[in-house]
Amino acid sequence: MDSSDQDKLLAQAESICQQRNVRLTPQRLEVLRLMAQQHGAISAYDLLDLLRASEPQAKPPTVYRALDFLLEQGFIHRVESTNSYVMCHHIEEHSHTSALFICDRCGQVTERQTEGIEAILQQLAQSANFTLRHSVVEAHGLCEACQEVADCREHGHCHHDHTVPIKNAKPGR
Ligand SMILES: [Zn+2]
Ligand SMILES: [Zn+2]
Ligand SMILES: [Zn+2]
Repeated sequence: MDSSDQDKLLAQAESICQQRNVRLTPQRLEVLRLMAQQHGAISAYDLLDLLRASEPQAKPPTVYRALDFLLEQGFIHRVESTNSYVMCHHIEEHSHTSALFICDRCGQVTERQTEGIEAILQQLAQSANFTLRHSVVEAHGLCEACQEVADCREHGHCHHDHTVPIKNAKPGR
């Protein structure tokens, strides 16, 4: 996200909080700003390190409280399979469910709305006499740029960084 997009998003978050009559404190805003600067998902502890640049007193509960608030407002999503957090790309839609596509090389997270999947999960839950309250749809793989690197056979003659490891890669792949 470039800096003008970040500013737009933060202004949007501020106005949404005003409408909802909830307080986007300077600390919460700072955490959201740091989240918006990330290329992909980030863990709470990495976020804490970044936050300490402006707030040396920040402790893990500081970050978790801010993250809880941002999750509640639907501004960010929790990436459960990697225990990290990512900016939501349509924050105006309060608490929607998304499918998250997570790149195992660069950590980029692409978000798509999931009405279809939700309906199927609901049906499956019903047929199992299960009351569905919350579901997470996360898929792992490679983003377009990283797939190109993975397919490259010109090591040493290309502009790629082939030293970046692919996480969770199955042996032999
Ligand atoms: Zn979202
Ligand atoms: Zn990638
Ligand atoms: Zn290459």
